[in-house]
Amino acid sequence: MGPLDLAQDRAFREMAFGWLAKNSSNGSRSLTRHEIDGFQEHKPEAPHRLMNQEGIWKPAPLVATLSVTSGVASSRHNPYVDRVTDSGLVEYAFTEAPKKQYQNDGLRLAHAHGLPIIYFRAVRKSVYDAYFPVHVMGIDEGRRVALLNLAETLGPHGRIDVDFAPQLGEIEVKYRGQVVRRRLHQRDFRSNVMFAYTSRCSVCSLGHAQLLDAAHILPDSRGGSPEISNGLALCKIHHAAYDANIMGVDSDRRVHIRADILREVDGPVLEHGFQKRHREMLRVVPEDQKFSPNREYLAARFEEFQSAN
Ligand SMILES: [Zn+2]
Repeated sequence: MGPLDLAQDRAFREMAFGWLAKNSSNGSRSLTRHEIDGFQEHKPEAPHRLMNQEGIWKPAPLVATLSVTSGVASSRHNPYVDRVTDSGLVEYAFTEAPKKQYQNDGLRLAHAHGLPIIYFRAVRKSVYDAYFPVHVMGIDEGRRVALLNLAETLGPHGRIDVDFAPQLGEIEVKYRGQVVRRRLHQRDFRSNVMFAYTSRCSVCSLGHAQLLDAAHILPDSRGGSPEISNGLALCKIHHAAYDANIMGVDSDRRVHIRADILREVDGPVLEHGFQKRHREMLRVVPEDQKFSPNREYLAARFEEFQSAN
């Protein structure tokens, strides 16, 4: 395949974004390296990988960089992984290897031509959240970083949805850095909780990623931390019920339903979703003990459920 012109390059990117949207359920689940490599196998007309091992990736025929990949946070190889500027742009560090300077040129070209790229953010080893389309808003030659605008792909609660246009434009410029940082951390939290609970609701074991949330046991507002042991994977209905104290979970991981709900006669969702779950143990818990819901957090939160009832 010869070099692509700008229009062909754009069309290729659109196709890649569409493939990623479909395979990540519109961004609601993380992708393994193996799944990402599947792009090539299922698209004979797309003989390029979406990422490489090195970080900055430009298939030879493309005009500019196609993707950048971050290391797992705190990895010494990429100390900038989490750096978000006060204006809400993510800094992606240039490669310093003398023989790889062409990779930095690829980012300069993406900026110059306004070509959107993919930002793969590692949430665990070989597991990534894909952010797209991401525009390179600028190059800071002094700091040797490309400035990426993830805001256009980051909804409230770190939700990513290609059909969803977040209203970040309305947020005052001075708060943008904070908003983007918070949404990125929410997205990381979600990805890690979904992994620990194998993408299933811990109460009803529903396994459809787009209907699942990562709930906090102790909310942010009460000093709840973003560690996995302060999370529960819950479907939308059980999440809302947990937040509204219609449902509680005690420190032994037993589910409790509010008394008046137990007596109510309604329909199958109330019966199977709530009444039959009363006094049942959580159906799905992390296999790895260190990710298990923290007993103290559960107890503190359960007290709230009891006093609300
Ligand atoms: Zn559920």
